Amino acid sequence: MTTLVSAGHRLQLNEIPFGPPPSVRDALSRALASANRYPEFLPQRLPRLIAQRLGCGPERIVVGAGATGVIMHIVQEFGSGGAEVVMATPTFDGFPILTTMAGGRPVPVPLTGTGRQDLTALAAAVTERTRLVVVCSPHNPTGTLVPPAEFEAFLQDIPASITVVLDEAYVDFVAEADRADIFALLDKRPNLLVLRTFSKAYGLAALRVGYAIGDAELIDRVARWQLPFGMTALAEVAVRACYEAEAEIQARIAVLAEHRDRLTTGLRELGLCVPDSYANFSYLTLPAADAEVVATALAGADIHVKTYPTGIRITVGDRSATDAVLAAVRSTVQ
Ligand code: PMP
Repeated sequence: MTTLVSAGHRLQLNEIPFGPPPSVRDALSRALASANRYPEFLPQRLPRLIAQRLGCGPERIVVGAGATGVIMHIVQEFGSGGAEVVMATPTFDGFPILTTMAGGRPVPVPLTGTGRQDLTALAAAVTERTRLVVVCSPHNPTGTLVPPAEFEAFLQDIPASITVVLDEAYVDFVAEADRADIFALLDKRPNLLVLRTFSKAYGLAALRVGYAIGDAELIDRVARWQLPFGMTALAEVAVRACYEAEAEIQARIAVLAEHRDRLTTGLRELGLCVPDSYANFSYLTLPAADAEVVATALAGADIHVKTYPTGIRITVGDRSATDAVLAAVRSTVQ
């Protein structure tokens, strides 16, 4: 007799549902043969590779163990000694956690009722103790985008002595036309750091590769916190192979955008409030009591999501994941 064990749907960490393309897997397998060798003492080749791709100088890139690793170094440099770090709430958990670890004080600013970061309130929360302000676009957990013109106006309201982090972990899911021109912004605002990661659209979450783009002086201050031999050799191999498999990566992004739109539409058809998402997840805006009911139904169907006081974040998986989510949520509204 065979027992069927459901693997469930792992939709709580905004991972993509695909493993690396075959060419990336092959490159990684080959690289394993040199696993006895240390990587570079401090990474030089990886920032060069990313800079070449972006069309900027390597001195404007700092890499880390995921965007999380880069955030750690940013808060070590700018957020220690009781410094205030202004951020939305909810936001990516790493921001409050790492700020506290570095000895800083997170200053949480509630989202608007439509799941957007309140840029006016974020600017108003800045005091003489503020050293860092964080904005995510698309935002985690709501998927909302900060319109580039609004972000540029916001930057003008922030004193040049305060570092602003624009977290673009999900930017690869955003249509080109909707993206901020970060190099134009960086030219005007040397106090800006833009964060990116290979964990999301590029599907390399296990390998921990993220980076920040910024003015050379700021990047140098962040890089001083890098751990010697801290980036694995596989990270560089995988990024290089992903860049060479760009067409495949882009095709998957297009598939996930379709799934996301189907998930969002399906949830809205069930009468739920879901902001337009520009990332690989959808956010159900719900009062806490209703969120509890929906989360319980999802858990009962072996669907793992992340719940917040104001709703539920559901990562976009494959077609069967979307079907399963819609069926479970439907069971709670009918
Ligand atoms: N920023 C945001 C907005 C995120 O959602 C995440 C991961 N969930 C990260 C940064 C960190 O990603 P990683 O460390 O895997 O690069």
